[in-house]
Amino acid sequence: EAYLGAIEQANGQLNAYITVTADKARAMAAASDARIAKGEAGALEGIPLGIKDLFATEGVHTQAASHILDGFEPMYESTVTANLWADGAVMLGKLNMDEFAMGSSNETSYYGPVINPWRRKGSNLDLVPGGSSGGSAAAVAAHLCAGATATDTGGSIRQPAAFTGTVGIKPTYGRCSRWGTVAFASSLDQAGPIARDVRDAAILLKSMASVDDKDTTSVDRPVPDYEAAVGRSVKGLKIGIPREYRVDGMPEELDAVWQKGVEWLREAGAEIVDVSLPHTKYALPAYYIVAPAEASSNLARYDGVRYGLRENGRDITDMYENTRAAGFGREVKRRIMIGTYVLSAGYYDAYYIQAQKVRTLIKRDFEMVYADGIDALLTPATPSAAFGIGDEDMAADPVKMYLNDIFTVTVNMAGLPGIAVPAGLTGEGTPLGLQLIGRPFDEETLFATASVIE
Ligand code: GLN
Repeated sequence: EAYLGAIEQANGQLNAYITVTADKARAMAAASDARIAKGEAGALEGIPLGIKDLFATEGVHTQAASHILDGFEPMYESTVTANLWADGAVMLGKLNMDEFAMGSSNETSYYGPVINPWRRKGSNLDLVPGGSSGGSAAAVAAHLCAGATATDTGGSIRQPAAFTGTVGIKPTYGRCSRWGTVAFASSLDQAGPIARDVRDAAILLKSMASVDDKDTTSVDRPVPDYEAAVGRSVKGLKIGIPREYRVDGMPEELDAVWQKGVEWLREAGAEIVDVSLPHTKYALPAYYIVAPAEASSNLARYDGVRYGLRENGRDITDMYENTRAAGFGREVKRRIMIGTYVLSAGYYDAYYIQAQKVRTLIKRDFEMVYADGIDALLTPATPSAAFGIGDEDMAADPVKMYLNDIFTVTVNMAGLPGIAVPAGLTGEGTPLGLQLIGRPFDEETLFATASVIE
């Protein structure tokens, strides 16, 4: 009731929830009470969570914040949310996001932008919460849920976490099932939590992660007790500082926070090592080929027949065109066009195959530093703090918006786990986050190192 009241009070301003499932929340909470009374409480019994609108929730409007999915109520539950409910969690509602998870500011949602609960000192300017999981991050930061699900294809958990002073982890590719998560770029998409602190993130990830027959890329490995890794000693760990992440134009205060992170880990007994990931500079262009290519294929299913919106026409082709023209927003159309272009016969080798080769080189960069005994890498999570809604530079030039993902996309391209953790404030009092990147399936080291920094 406290969370529902908080949503009622603040959501008009923040626009973090698209759908509030108050009745369902009360019914689930009552079922929790009954289990608690019987001594059968699950690991998340009664914990109220917000769910990114990308996760299919049975009988509950699921739109990926797109007009084209208007009215779509899935007949099934995503594996990640089913796992949470099986542990006793309670659903408060569906969280706003960039349309089909494409964006870094939550401004591409059909339901309008999410407002970051943080502001610059003495300023009334509304800031973006980051994207695409902007609703998840804003809701957690503003106490409109105890924790939230999110997804990360190129930074969509870590960048909004950094912009809102919350903790977000993208686990290793294959750690969470993608079944029932609306697909953006299937070889990059991973679910993970956004939470108020490292311990909460660890508890939520344990529940979300599982192998799943319905997703053949999910991995059959036991899910460790991540919570036990929180606060674990980092003595003797080797932490790499990749020199390619010191990019031109990085704000001084961000660099200072990065240095502080280095000192905290050193004081806690970790060894700090300079490392090189030489193909880093190719990651962003390669990502913006691979991700749109996969998206253009995945989004072919929205044809006015199978889901949501239909705009009729003279014949079926006309109906497809009308539906897609009316149903998709500008950014989604841009991605479909880029993706279709790079996959088309004359350009496939020049762009798509080339980007796939670059992807392999990026992955090898990481394999090499890990083979040298590095346990985790420390970088900034984003190149800046949260910017203003409607930022003119970025609105005029989509590539400027894409630059927000410069520190996060490498991790998805290599399938690695990455965590964003709040590490300081700008002079104007807005949050700055650091990122730790780990070895495949070594989320535990991320929880241990992140708990030194938070
Ligand atoms: N901002 C990136 C994009 O727009 C990442 C999105 C994501 O991780 N879902 O593609």
